[in-house]
Amino acid sequence: MSQTAREILQETFGYSKFRPLQEEIITDVLNGKDTLVIMPTGGGKSICYQIPALIFDGLTIVVSPLISLMKDQVEQLEQYGVPALFLNSTLTREQYAENISRLRNREIKLLYLAPETLMMEATRKLLSELDVDCFTIDEAHCISEWGHDFRPEYRQLATVRKDFPNAVCLALTATATPRVREDIQKILEMKSSATYVASFDRENLLLKIVDKENPLDQILDFLYTRQKDSGIIYCFSRRQVDELYSDLKAEGYKVLPYHAGLSEQQRTRNQEAFIRDNVNIIVATIAFGMGINKSNVRYVIHHDMPQNIESYYQQIGRSGRDGLQADCLLLYSYADKQKIKYFINQKEGTEKEIAERHLDHLIDYLEYDGCRRVPLMGYFGEEYTKNDCGNCDNCLMQEDDLQDLTVQAQKYLSCIARTDEKFGAYHIADILRGSKAKKVLENNHDQLSTYGIGLEWSKNQWIQLSRLLIRRSLVDKNQEYGNLVLTDDAKLVLDGKQIVQGLLDRTQTSTEDDVRVKTSSEVENRYDEHLFEELRKKRKEMADEQDLPPYVIFPDTTLMEMSYYYPQSEEKLIGIYGVGSAKLKKYGIEFLEIIRSYCEKEEIDERSKGLSKKVEKSSSGQQHHRVGSEYQAGKTIDHLAEEFGVKQVTILSNLKKYLDEGNELDPVNILNASELSERKKDEVFESMKKVGPDLLKPIYEDLNKSVDYGELRILQLAYLAQNGK
Ligand code: ADP
Ligand code: ZN
Repeated sequence: MSQTAREILQETFGYSKFRPLQEEIITDVLNGKDTLVIMPTGGGKSICYQIPALIFDGLTIVVSPLISLMKDQVEQLEQYGVPALFLNSTLTREQYAENISRLRNREIKLLYLAPETLMMEATRKLLSELDVDCFTIDEAHCISEWGHDFRPEYRQLATVRKDFPNAVCLALTATATPRVREDIQKILEMKSSATYVASFDRENLLLKIVDKENPLDQILDFLYTRQKDSGIIYCFSRRQVDELYSDLKAEGYKVLPYHAGLSEQQRTRNQEAFIRDNVNIIVATIAFGMGINKSNVRYVIHHDMPQNIESYYQQIGRSGRDGLQADCLLLYSYADKQKIKYFINQKEGTEKEIAERHLDHLIDYLEYDGCRRVPLMGYFGEEYTKNDCGNCDNCLMQEDDLQDLTVQAQKYLSCIARTDEKFGAYHIADILRGSKAKKVLENNHDQLSTYGIGLEWSKNQWIQLSRLLIRRSLVDKNQEYGNLVLTDDAKLVLDGKQIVQGLLDRTQTSTEDDVRVKTSSEVENRYDEHLFEELRKKRKEMADEQDLPPYVIFPDTTLMEMSYYYPQSEEKLIGIYGVGSAKLKKYGIEFLEIIRSYCEKEEIDERSKGLSKKVEKSSSGQQHHRVGSEYQAGKTIDHLAEEFGVKQVTILSNLKKYLDEGNELDPVNILNASELSERKKDEVFESMKKVGPDLLKPIYEDLNKSVDYGELRILQLAYLAQNGK
């Protein structure tokens, strides 16, 4: 059995391997066992019923609440050459009749239905005349009142299910709570069923939280290096959406708004424009995204705090469904937190309690100092055991990003001590800044030795420091009164026995961190961007001709593999991710033509797929030794990056580690990797001499931000190699 499933996976969908749990689920369904599947968005639920549908003799019914998703799914299946259709209220009378006759002729494998349509007498009669082998319920949490999206019409599915006693029942959802899970099984009367719960970790999402300072600037910084990518920006209010939308538009971005204040028609139009890659960015309130399947959303930005972890997770989950790297950025501010607290205080009773709990979980996540996946997965009841995910801001922080904050920490802590641990963060900051605030004067705090000794920092910086000290457990905040209290560890800092290091300025939205991400895929790291662009253009053209979203023709992943392997023949093309036989027939020739002529022009040879190596994620322990000695043997940095299948920046950090361990490095080849003019290089070295070579940020500032971090990193290494440590 599973052999056939595997063949279909390859032949029809063009994928070479099952994702986790897919194969087990498919086997159970084929064996007639009722199955409940809990898998995050993008986990690959559809294949779990689509492949059995192709193996069963009869029909598979798929109940789905969202009409736009239905259409999208059917369009995708048609591209794969799978006979599928839908029945819902959007069809014309003629289309409806046509679909019914195709069903009667047994031409169709998958039928998508809205629950209302399924409940109709005519539909039930029609289905009773057909052989139904599988009854699939997508978004099955809608059946439960405990879910976040209860739909009364879903309740009645239980009765309809009895119309097909011999059909196997498959329920799928991305909502994981045990309560909802039980409800689904009970209401659908899934006897002796199997339940599959996939991991909720979406490894390809980069989780990043920054302090919100000048949100527009921060977002513009972020977008600057992502001009061609698709992304969603979520805002708290309609007003905020409109404002940001016009700001981005004025900056020349292709962007549209989406919120409940727009007409339904307008909203549909804007959503469609996004799905079709006519615009890159949607600025939206939380209402956006339910009905979209777009696989190449490359980033999600939260301009404001989300409601709770659950909705945050859902929203970021809309990016990176194609499995490629996607960036999730959240701008976090104290004021937003207060705003949400204010709203919560308007509520009463249990509702208020629940909202408070949600907020606490969210704050725990936002203020977490270690790997962000720990609290995030923890929220969904999953223990995250790797201690370095390599794909969140905290894990990506490198030692040279850290500032030495010991002196300021000592000032702050001693000011807490001198005011008898009775005051809160703002008051302490006021004293250090020499403020003439009433509260300071009334308490005679202008007489303290710590009064006015902190002018080097803004109030905001001191507040940020207080948060860092709390996160580090050097200070406790009294829950009731908000006054700050020193912990035992604080004494160590005051006595100079412990240093405090950290990143105070967490406002950078687009930094070298982003390029430090090491995906495990060599293809993603090193595909040919020029060819990718040409293929993308072609895809858009073909999509417009057929009135389809581009990702339905091929996902980005496919174009990326094409731009890495440069396949020159149909035999090679069929080996590319996402190229099944139907798509090969439909699009193969045209894409091959582009690849061939590109390769001819650029004199590039095909790359054999068998030879591609997957390089393990960052933690490959002793890699820096090998990199170091091969470098010393004369290999260039580019050569090493190619050989190890990693980015240049990774080689640089390997070499730095190698150097730090006391080994020699010849600076010449490092310098060759720089693209700066000699004059500029010397300017950078001068700056390093002046402000010290160890931290990049002061150098960056000293040079008025004229040299980017990538270059600074190269020159820093060259400098250290030259001058010894
Ligand atoms: P979900 O419904 O769980 O959100 P989808 O079924 O839409 O996820 O799958 C997400 C993406 O992953 C789709 O583009 C799908 O084609 C792709 N996909 C699913 N299974 C595999 C697989 N075994 N190998 C490669 N890609 C897959
Ligand atoms: Zn992490």
